Amino acid sequence: MELNLDLFEQHKEYEDEVVSILQDLIRIDTSNPPGNELKAAKYLEKLLSKEGFKCEIFESDENRGNIYTEIKGEDENLPILLLLNHLDVVPANKEKWEVDPFSGDLIDDFIWGRGALDMKGTVAAQVFAVIALKRANIKPKRTIKYLSVADEEAAGNYGAKFMTENHWEKIKATYVICEGGGFKIPVRRFDKYTLQVAEKGPFWSKIKVKGEAAHGSTPRSGVNALTKMSKIITKIDNHNIPVKITKPYKTMINNLDINFFFKFLMKNSFTVMPIINAISKMFPILKTFIEPLVKMNITPTMCKSGTKVNVIPDEAEAQLDCRLLPGMTKDDLMNQLKHILGEKLFSELEIIPIQWDEGSFNEIDNDFYEKISEIIGEIDKDGEVLPFMVPGTTDNRYFRWKGSVAYGFHPMIADMDFEEMSKLAHGKNERISVNNLKLGTEFYYRLIKDF
Ligand SMILES: [Zn+2]
Repeated sequence: MELNLDLFEQHKEYEDEVVSILQDLIRIDTSNPPGNELKAAKYLEKLLSKEGFKCEIFESDENRGNIYTEIKGEDENLPILLLLNHLDVVPANKEKWEVDPFSGDLIDDFIWGRGALDMKGTVAAQVFAVIALKRANIKPKRTIKYLSVADEEAAGNYGAKFMTENHWEKIKATYVICEGGGFKIPVRRFDKYTLQVAEKGPFWSKIKVKGEAAHGSTPRSGVNALTKMSKIITKIDNHNIPVKITKPYKTMINNLDINFFFKFLMKNSFTVMPIINAISKMFPILKTFIEPLVKMNITPTMCKSGTKVNVIPDEAEAQLDCRLLPGMTKDDLMNQLKHILGEKLFSELEIIPIQWDEGSFNEIDNDFYEKISEIIGEIDKDGEVLPFMVPGTTDNRYFRWKGSVAYGFHPMIADMDFEEMSKLAHGKNERISVNNLKLGTEFYYRLIKDF
């Protein structure tokens, strides 16, 4: 595939520069918890200051830092664009990796390390794009804002949530570009660059049930909370949650290069699952990603009960990773749980929110979407974007709630096995190719230069 990476054609030395920025960022351990993003923010402050940027660091807690800078545009009336990324990463289990996850090693044109894909690669690409624009002495049409935040991998309380709640006037933007999309699906008819326009809402919940303690030798004299909870978990696991077709899902299907009849089947709640099951025989990975886009998920992930081997436990607690489609509310989840468990068992449950955020969605009928499509067509002559919903969640939601149009997009091509690549973020041996790092940088550079 021929890519037009003009920025790197004109400045051969830029490749090494952006690679070394990513390596430096990987080597700053920002595993969350605890985060320690301030160190990375200070690194970026130094880097940007050297290029003549004025930066501000917003500390949300001890060692938790968010860094902001901007480039004033020619026309201050044009809607502002914000480049947004996060500095924290999920922890890495060193033993499982082939290299030290914080080494940032460059091996065969791949940069290895925790955060290479999620999302220090994008941090490096975005920050280098603004640097390159400054060096080229180009004043963008609209004001460009840049923000790196802490704490995305937890709930954003020290990052995006903190910034949108406390410093909105400073960072506010009509358009936001962050993570959660950009991967070009290497499957015929689906081979477009996914642009994240919607995401499901995490409704992480703790559930508790009560029993009655008794001696383990006479179990009938008590009520076993552990076995009650295991029934609840089994019922949830066995239940087939009904399909719901949402607007962002329809938008996605409408933009695929498939015929009208196939689109109809994919958007019909009775036919979509049989179709997905059939396609999955050829492309198993599609089911993994598409099924969650037409269903709410309720997934038990943790459970604890009991204090001693000979005591009938009087309490059991489990945690559920529930994910709601955009447009669904807490009531939809409660009704679904009631339906799965039945009135009686449901009434015995105590449900405690850990993090309850609704899903979010942006339309695509705006010049931001058009510009992104146009630039992708320039860089990759067969390239098109596909408005996409993701089953996970990103900081985009905080900006959508504030009224911004927030898309997740760092264009990337599959330059290794697709299935393996899809497991790298949050998995072992996370790495990004130099080519995808350059592709992202080129894209952000053109976006801030031409939009
Ligand atoms: Zn991320």
